[in-house]
Amino acid sequence: MSTEYTQSRTVQFIPPSEGPLRRHTHTYDLMRQCIHCGFCLPTCPTYAVLGVEMDSPRGRIYQMQAVADGKLDISDDFIEHMYCCVGCRACETACPSGVQFGKLIEAAREQIQLTTNKVAAQEGPDVHARDEYDETTTPTVSRSKNSISATLLRRFFFDAMLPSRTTLSLVFGGLKLYQRSGLQTVVHKTGLLDAANNLPTPFKGKLKIPEELMHNAGGPIIPAPLPEVTPAIGEQRYRVGVISGCIMDQVFHDINEATVRVLAANGCEVITPPQQGCCGALHVHGGEADRGRALARHNIDTFAPYNCDAIIINSAGCGSTLKEYDHLLRDDPDYAQKAQEFSARVKDISEFLVSIEPVQQMGEVHHTVAYHDACHLLHGQKIKQQPRQLLKSIPGLKLVNLPESDWCCGSAGIYNLTNQEMGHELLERKMNNVEATGAQIIATGNPGCMMQIAMGMRQRGLPMEVKHPIQLLDDAYAAGGVYKKTSNDSVTKQTPRPVTALAAAFALLLAILIIKGRRRK
Ligand code: SF4
Ligand code: SF4
Repeated sequence: MSTEYTQSRTVQFIPPSEGPLRRHTHTYDLMRQCIHCGFCLPTCPTYAVLGVEMDSPRGRIYQMQAVADGKLDISDDFIEHMYCCVGCRACETACPSGVQFGKLIEAAREQIQLTTNKVAAQEGPDVHARDEYDETTTPTVSRSKNSISATLLRRFFFDAMLPSRTTLSLVFGGLKLYQRSGLQTVVHKTGLLDAANNLPTPFKGKLKIPEELMHNAGGPIIPAPLPEVTPAIGEQRYRVGVISGCIMDQVFHDINEATVRVLAANGCEVITPPQQGCCGALHVHGGEADRGRALARHNIDTFAPYNCDAIIINSAGCGSTLKEYDHLLRDDPDYAQKAQEFSARVKDISEFLVSIEPVQQMGEVHHTVAYHDACHLLHGQKIKQQPRQLLKSIPGLKLVNLPESDWCCGSAGIYNLTNQEMGHELLERKMNNVEATGAQIIATGNPGCMMQIAMGMRQRGLPMEVKHPIQLLDDAYAAGGVYKKTSNDSVTKQTPRPVTALAAAFALLLAILIIKGRRRK
């Protein structure tokens, strides 16, 4: 199986002393912690599918060290093995030697991106680039048209879309219009999607998964920002900040609303600064660390004046990166200390609620629920029991076991889009276990896992839903009379609203003008 992310090129060389794998002694030392015991191999999803040492944690570390030592170039093969990793960090949990693989794979991908960006800066699709560091090396770089379109898409995604609320609103507002205006149904029924998928473009055969993954984007077409300050219900015990996220706020706005309500019900004054931005997790996981660092600095500065007791996140992938801002900014003299203080305050919503002993005034919620461990919650943040504790505390809710709940579902940020074959293999394994639970609901604390598992349910026609644990807690508080809810969309059961294309387009245009108007003020 080949990874689909790989771009066509031959060899490019960055001397070990200059690359992120070697630049920081810390990173190099982390690699040297590997004692090659192989305990991590049975926990690695890509090794389980491919059975290739180079696609195991140990094999990847060998390759990283060879690059850092200048014994291996950043070749197509190296890139393929590094991007085939789902970044689940299951190997970290298994490792007796304390290897922090997440930091290593991020450094390896950063090194790859620095190299490929350098290639992209050269003129033309076929460039003979002389390496500026090593006079003896004159690597040949061959960029296919495929790699150029992939690069443009990547630049749009990381540089234009994720960091900008306006662009996100445009993209996801457009997507919701497409879905709710009836256009999606037309495209499916007339076979247009199949036709587009078969066109000889760089995305041939790859359009169906993104379309299916975002089948029913939830929430309003243009979600209004959450209120800057939400008072505590009853006596105030804490002041907490909430990270509303980028895609999370567009597609799972209802979960953000539930998060704020549940926190307020637990005596928290909730701050959601409107100036906050994307946390940079997808950038860091994808090797775009410089952009990730810029976003981290912005968020640190944004939350600083509010002096919150804790900064709450409801997305596992984002939480993992927010807790590692200190690592990301360790070499920044102006932000290293601030990042340490910021990261120390970051808490996953389940971790925080369990730590403060949540209010127990809950009504009954009669569902059979199985819990799926998001990799970045379990392996990245070592949070296993807290979400289960919260679910068990809900009266009427029956929590059943999900076999292999700690096995990656294949979502992994944008992995399911860039490595569709492997993403599909992992989803199939997950869905076999999901189906065996007999549960009505799969609960999980990460938006990527929610979309991936919901897609698996639709593909198999399962009468099940995916929910975030906080949505079930929110249901319980509403049933207990703590508050009334304003909205509660689920991922799989949401039905398109009767919105005409014209009215929705007008709403989208109006919202964008309002957002732009606010910014000018
Ligand atoms: S992060 Fe996951 S996929 Fe990558 S090497 Fe470790 S166990 Fe394997
Ligand atoms: S378990 Fe840890 S030390 Fe052993 S091979 Fe895997 S990464 Fe290396």
